[in-house]
Amino acid sequence: MNKIYIGLGSNLNNPIQQLENALAALSALPEITDLIYSNFYSSKPVGPQDQPDFVNAVASFSTLLDPIPLLDALQNIEQEHNRIRERHWGPRTLDLDILLINNDTLSLPRLTVPHPYMLERGFVIKPLADITPGMLLPNGKTVEEHLHCINTTDLVCL
Ligand code: AMP
Repeated sequence: MNKIYIGLGSNLNNPIQQLENALAALSALPEITDLIYSNFYSSKPVGPQDQPDFVNAVASFSTLLDPIPLLDALQNIEQEHNRIRERHWGPRTLDLDILLINNDTLSLPRLTVPHPYMLERGFVIKPLADITPGMLLPNGKTVEEHLHCINTTDLVCL
């Protein structure tokens, strides 16, 4: 059984609803068990500021799926929930990132694990601390210890 942590994010089309729909879709997958998830947090966008605030959360679950089938399943959920009905394909409204798979390191064309930017992102580490504060991160710190080292001032718990 693989222990998975994923990051969820959205800043378009009712982001809270996007995340709730994604969590419902995940929990409906027969291959996924023991789904838990963090509080939702809003934050200012990284980069261009002329776009809506983001809403982010982190979830964990267990699965027998191998990494690439798991990525396929997550990308299916992204596509199902990203469709804007009045247009053929609209902008992406849901982002699902694989943060960690067990303690594995993967460097595949489609998949890098641990997620390369997870340690520097408050909107990942703060929700991760909700569900697993004592877990060791790839840098050897616990999530809670690492939380003190990064900027989370723009995060608002929803
Ligand atoms: P983005 O939508 O910008 O998050 O990028 C999605 C692309 O990143 C997809 O083509 C994935 O194959 C690739 N990717 C690489 N590593 C990961 C990861 N850890 N989680 C999700 N997607 C990943």
